[in-house]
Amino acid sequence: MSVAPAASARFDAAMPVVVIGAGAAGLVAALSAREAGAEVLVLERDPVPRGSTALSAGLVPAPGTRWQRAAGIADDPERFAADILHKAAGEPDPSLVGLLARQAGPALEWLADAHGLAFSVITDFRYPGHSAHRMHGLPTRSGEELVDRLRGAAEAAGIPILCEARVETLFTEAGAIRGVGFARPDGSREAVACEALVLACNGYGGSKPLVAAHVPELAGALYFGHPGNQGEAILWGEALGAATRHLSGHQGHGSVAHPHGILITWATITEGGVQVNQEGLRFSDESRGYSEQAAEVLRQPGGTAVTVFDARIAGIARQFEDFRRAEQAGAIVEAATAADLAARLRLPAEALAATLGAVEALKREGGTDAFGRAFSGVPPLAPPYRAVRVTGALFHTQGGLVVDGAARVVRRDGGCVPNLFAAGGAACGVSGSGAAGYLSGNGLLSAVALGRVGGRAAGAMAAGG
Ligand SMILES: Cc1cc2nc3c(=O)[nH]c(=O)nc-3n(C[C@H](O)[C@H](O)[C@H](O)COP(=O)(O)OP(=O)(O)OC[C@H]3O[C@@H](n4cnc5c(N)ncnc54)[C@H](O)[C@@H]3O)c2cc1C
Repeated sequence: MSVAPAASARFDAAMPVVVIGAGAAGLVAALSAREAGAEVLVLERDPVPRGSTALSAGLVPAPGTRWQRAAGIADDPERFAADILHKAAGEPDPSLVGLLARQAGPALEWLADAHGLAFSVITDFRYPGHSAHRMHGLPTRSGEELVDRLRGAAEAAGIPILCEARVETLFTEAGAIRGVGFARPDGSREAVACEALVLACNGYGGSKPLVAAHVPELAGALYFGHPGNQGEAILWGEALGAATRHLSGHQGHGSVAHPHGILITWATITEGGVQVNQEGLRFSDESRGYSEQAAEVLRQPGGTAVTVFDARIAGIARQFEDFRRAEQAGAIVEAATAADLAARLRLPAEALAATLGAVEALKREGGTDAFGRAFSGVPPLAPPYRAVRVTGALFHTQGGLVVDGAARVVRRDGGCVPNLFAAGGAACGVSGSGAAGYLSGNGLLSAVALGRVGGRAAGAMAAGG
């Protein structure tokens, strides 16, 4: 990983726009740059584009979409922006929040209309912190489908995606990017010149040293994102004098089936489920969000917890491929009674019965528990029960390069690197400096909305617009 003078490079080829990374951010940016009239090359280190995008549920939050209108859901960018800022306690840059909130809906409708991605809005449950049903996904509700469809769209648009090309070096001249150098699996090296470069190679979740430096509380946790995300965008940016922000910001998740390593949807909690520890006791306000719950779960004996829910909730969760996989893998325990559940999970039966009894009483009374979870309006749990043992994991990092309204990388001295853009996990997102600021969907929001903005600006620049 380095930044070197362009004079030291021997370019094998030239392309107006180069995009590093073929996850959601990179593929959306490439489509957008192409639409702006530029030829684009995407460089991807893996044999097949997947990224963290393929590991995700592929759900993108967007307000004011036609899918929401068809479902009678009232929502708009101002309301979405307020939810983002509220979750992150006002830490993110309000202008970036406003930009993403305004761009998300049009970006999804463009992907549907111009590239055939069949989005629909989830209406049967709501993620914590969202004041409207605004999560949009493709039919399987999987990120694999999202990245596959984006790749198909890029191929249909004639955008070359060069795989097994790990970018190592950015070549610069007079403060601007002139090209990139990349390594091939056989150890050979190539370089391509460009007029504009989009960094879409996500954050540093796959780098143990960077995680230990910036998110020490999750240094030993399972990393559930793409291992190829090694933080190069941030390291290149720092070497170029770029500003970074909120590097400690991240998305954790307190609901990964253990030891199966399968994501269990948070609908298990929002629809009325609770988490208990090995002693059959609750330990937190689970309703604050799954991101901050990662550290809470890891603090429990054995670093695990059990999510207790019921057959009705399992019916909702089954729309997610991950949940169906968890069922097939035997991760979901079924029990006719609380005592049966305790026996199957080797939890103290009396303690578990008392915990569930107290929760159901709070739901009936509309009360709030000692941790601050308000149970008013939360649906009751009813036998037969379902449960799953879970652990906490790091999903991805949310801090990164500071960008302007065109997704252009901002320098520490306040100027810009004129032809360098960042989107998705490479850019500082809108989640603030910790786990608790992550509002569900902030990851793909930045990938899709900022990817489109940055791609358009890079494409216009390279096409001379
Ligand atoms: C399990 C899980 C579930 C999630 N669920 C959701 C969700 O439902 N909604 C949501 O909004 N977010 C979710 N997220 C977060 C979301 O996946 C990410 O925020 C988003 O995918 C980031 O997109 P990206 O394009 O920036 O990065 P990625 O999809 O990770 O793509 C980056 C690409 O860059 C490549 N790359 C890296 N370095 C180089 C290099 N040097 N040279 C060439 N290529 C390189 C990588 O191989 C990778 O393909 C989830 C994350 C995880 C792990």
